[in-house]
Amino acid sequence: MNDIALIRCEDYEIEKLRVAVRRAVDLIGGIASFIKPGDKVLLKVNLLMKRKPERVTTTHPAFPQVLAEMVIEAGGFPIIGDSPGGYHFYNRNVLESVYETCGMKEAAEKSGAELNYNTEVIDVPFHEGKKMKTIKTIRPVLEVDKIINIPKIKTHMMTVYSGAVKNMFGIIPGSYKAEYHLRFDDTADFADLLIDICQFSKPVLTVMDAVIGMEGYGPTAGKPKKVGLVIAGADPYVLDVVAASIIGLKSEQVPTIIKSRERGLCSGNLNDIKILGERVENVTVKNFQKPTVKISMNYYNIFLPKFLRKLLDSHIKPIPRFVHHKCTSCGVCEKSCPPHAISLKEGKPYVDLNKCIHCFCCHELCNHDAIKIKRPWFLRLLLR
Ligand code: SF4
Ligand code: SF4
Repeated sequence: MNDIALIRCEDYEIEKLRVAVRRAVDLIGGIASFIKPGDKVLLKVNLLMKRKPERVTTTHPAFPQVLAEMVIEAGGFPIIGDSPGGYHFYNRNVLESVYETCGMKEAAEKSGAELNYNTEVIDVPFHEGKKMKTIKTIRPVLEVDKIINIPKIKTHMMTVYSGAVKNMFGIIPGSYKAEYHLRFDDTADFADLLIDICQFSKPVLTVMDAVIGMEGYGPTAGKPKKVGLVIAGADPYVLDVVAASIIGLKSEQVPTIIKSRERGLCSGNLNDIKILGERVENVTVKNFQKPTVKISMNYYNIFLPKFLRKLLDSHIKPIPRFVHHKCTSCGVCEKSCPPHAISLKEGKPYVDLNKCIHCFCCHELCNHDAIKIKRPWFLRLLLR
C-alpha cells in the first residue's frame, strides 16, 4: 500500500509514455490488482481551465489515453472527467470546449474511453468528514466503481503544492469550489477540507503527470519545468510526500501533508515509504521554483492559534494586483471571486481588500497574466 513507483519519462511521446506508465503500474502490482472486469472507472484528470496541454496547467492527455487503454485491457470501462474551476456553469457546452482544448477529446477517441457529460450535482452525506459532513460532488464520482487519480505536479499559491490530494478537489462542481474557498479561507482549514474530499472519493490508484510540471506561480501562472517522471502509487498521501520531496518541498512545508500526518494518514517521512524504480535522490529536481511567500507563511498558518493567524494575515498576506494594460476586461476574476471582493470599473478590475480572503482564485483563473501577487512591505521586510 505504501509502495511508490518512480519511472523516468523524458517527454509525452505516446509510445515512451505507454512504456513508462505500464512499468510504473506493474511495479505496484499491475493494473489488474486495481481494476476488475466490468468496473466503471473515472479517470480524474486535472482540467482546471480551458488551456492547451503545452501550457502545463492541465494533465497531459497522453496520460488518460494510456490509462484508458490499460483499463480496457483489464476489462473495465474508462470515463475521462473533471469539473473545471471558476464561475463557469458546469454544463455540457463548457465541458465540450474544455475537453477539446485540453486534448481530452482526442485522448478519448484514440483510446476508446468515454468523456463525462453528466453535469448533475449531488449532495452526499459524509459523516467521517472533519470539515464537511456533506460533500457536494459531480455525478460520475457516485456512478463509477473506481477512480484513478491523474494529477499534474505543480506549485500552488494557496496550498504551496498541487498533487494527488489537491487534484480530488476537482470533484466539487464548478462554481461550488468558490463557496468552499469562502467557507475555508484559512490554509490549514482548507487543507483539512481537501483531505476530507480525498477520503470521500477514495481513488484506488494515482498516476501523476510529472513529466513536465509547473513551477513558481502555480497552478496557472507558473512556468513549465521538466521533472521527467511518471509517479504511481495506491496511496495519494504517501505519493504526495514523495512527489513534493522530488521538487524540493519538505513535508512540513506542504499544508495537506502536515494535515494528513496529523490525521494519521501518513508519516510524512520518506524513510517509511518503499520506493520502486528510480531512487529519489537521483531524480530530485534542482532549483524547482517554489511559491516562497506562501511557504514562509504556512509555518505560522499551521501552528499558531486561529485568532493570531487572522491578525498576522492582515499585515503579512500577499494580495492580488491587477495589471490593467494586460487585462482584456473578460470579467472572469470578478465572477470567480468567492467573497465578491472584485468589481470592474470601466472594464478594469479593482479589489476591496477588506473583503479579500487571499484565496488567489482570481490569479488562478485569469487567462491573460493580468493578475500578479504583491507582497505587503512588512512581508518583504521579513523575507529579506
Ligand atoms: S484581470 Fe484577467 S480575469 Fe480579470 S477581467 Fe482582466 S483579463 Fe479577465
Ligand atoms: S480578490 Fe482574488 S484573492 Fe481576493 S478573495 Fe477574490 S479571488 Fe480571492
